[in-house]
Amino acid sequence: MSLTHAFAGSLFVVAAPSGAGKSTLVNALLAQEPAIKLSISTTTRQPRPGETHGEQYYFTTAEDFVARAEAGEFLEWAEVHGNYYGTSRIMVEQEMKKGTDILLEIDWQGARQVRKQFPQATGIFILPPSIAALEDRLKKRATDEPHVITRRLLAAGGEIAHAPEFEYAIINEEFAIALSELTAIVRAARCRFAQQAARNASLFAQLGIHAE
Ligand code: 5GP
Repeated sequence: MSLTHAFAGSLFVVAAPSGAGKSTLVNALLAQEPAIKLSISTTTRQPRPGETHGEQYYFTTAEDFVARAEAGEFLEWAEVHGNYYGTSRIMVEQEMKKGTDILLEIDWQGARQVRKQFPQATGIFILPPSIAALEDRLKKRATDEPHVITRRLLAAGGEIAHAPEFEYAIINEEFAIALSELTAIVRAARCRFAQQAARNASLFAQLGIHAE
């Protein structure tokens, strides 16, 4: 195994259909693991009530988004539910070089693009405990209009179809259990040999651990 690892930080990619409880789980993980930084995506979707530019997303126009995508500013980007979403390449690469762990909350199309560029990224898919629970959670979301909810329900099936492309699956039935599973995955990924070697290069050298 090679001990040379391009980045000292770990990269986590979390995907789920809308209504699986992904954001709540991720926010709880970030509250307990402050060393992980959530990448803030750029989107052409309209801000929902309570959303602020620079907090949940960087909101922009389709024209600006397309120009930036063409300039290669995004590590990945995709059209989801009729809007564009993208991850800043420079932010992810700079932070990971510094040793910061980065978490991307993106869709399966973006996850695919990230996997190609960072095969060592840890892919985690959050599943609802049942279709009925998923429908229920989507309907209770008052922020979106009914036609948007219907579109998201249809899209949920499409997103779930790509769950097998991910390394880990978490069934979000009981929040506390799902959170402990997510935490366990993150901690295990950080302890991967190559990751530890990248993060603790001088210790590994002192101990005389060299690449095979
Ligand atoms: P929402 O509009 O509900 O915040 O997000 C809709 C979907 O877009 C979610 O599945 C979310 O994971 C995905 N998404 C958010 N940011 C990005 C991104 O930067 N890239 C990609 N590919 N998907 C994203």
